[in-house]
This record gives sequence, structure tokens and C-alpha cells, in this order.
Amino acid sequence: MSYTLPEFLAHALALEQEAAERYLELADMMEAHRNDPVSAVFRDMHRFSLMHHEEIRKRVGDIELPQLKSWQYRWSSPPEKGGEEAFDYMLETYNALRYARENELRGMEYYSSVAAEAGDPELARLAREFANEETEHVAALDDWIARTPRPSTTWEEDPDPLPPSG
Ligand code: ZN
Repeated sequence: MSYTLPEFLAHALALEQEAAERYLELADMMEAHRNDPVSAVFRDMHRFSLMHHEEIRKRVGDIELPQLKSWQYRWSSPPEKGGEEAFDYMLETYNALRYARENELRGMEYYSSVAAEAGDPELARLAREFANEETEHVAALDDWIARTPRPSTTWEEDPDPLPPSG
């Protein structure tokens, strides 16, 4: 699969917009949960995403962008979770951090794959630059995850991913 600059820019804009919205939600959630340090982390990530979005918008200029399908940029929720249960689940700081990390990783992998396969040197350069930024975000979240106590249920290593009933 090869990518064009307009496709790439459309993806990058949508990914940053999505990240900004999700981080704002996560920050508010952590604040309501009185977890101020992690709320501050998510607010920083929200700000970085907005700044990055703005930079990309400038880079787009007059270039006409293709329409994307939402599955191409929406953050994926933890598997087997939905609605209110997903919300409760996310109140666990550890799970919220893992959720953000999974999605940052997806962004990083997308940018890396474009960088690896781009024929256009300018596209490859931009994609590499964006991949590096996402690598830093993943590393920052990893630091926090390492410092956060694991809850009794996580969706990754849990052999029975259903939330406890009742
Ligand atoms: Zn990021």
C-alpha cells in the first residue's frame, strides 16, 4: 500500500483531533476521580495534540484533503467493553493510561508504516517526524503506567475480559 501526501495529512489531522478530544475526556474523568497528577498528564497530551493539529493544518494550506472513514482514525475502546461499563472501567487510572497508550501506539504504527513505504521523500520525512513524536508520547505514558498500581481487572492479560457483575 502506498500513501499520498493529501491522504497522509487528512489522517494526521483526524488522528490529532481525535486524540485531543479523547485526552480532554480522560483529563476530566481523572479530575472527577481526584487524580490530579494523571489529569495533568492528559491535559498536557490534549495541548500537544491541539498544537500538532494546528501545525498540520498550516502544512495542509490549500491542499485538498480526501474524506476519511471514522474507523480510520477513531480511538478503539477496550475490547468487550461498552457503554457505562467502559466508563467505570476507565476510571481506573491504570486502564485509562493503557487505553491512551494503545491508541498512541496505533498512531505511531500508522506514521511509521507511511514513513517506511512512502515514495515521496517529503512525505517520508513528515511521517518519520510524526512517528518520533508519537514514540515520545508512548514513552511518557509508559513511565506513568510503570508508576501506577495495577487494578484487579485489566483488559489485556485478563483471561476473562468481562467486568465483574453486580
Ligand atoms: Zn500522540
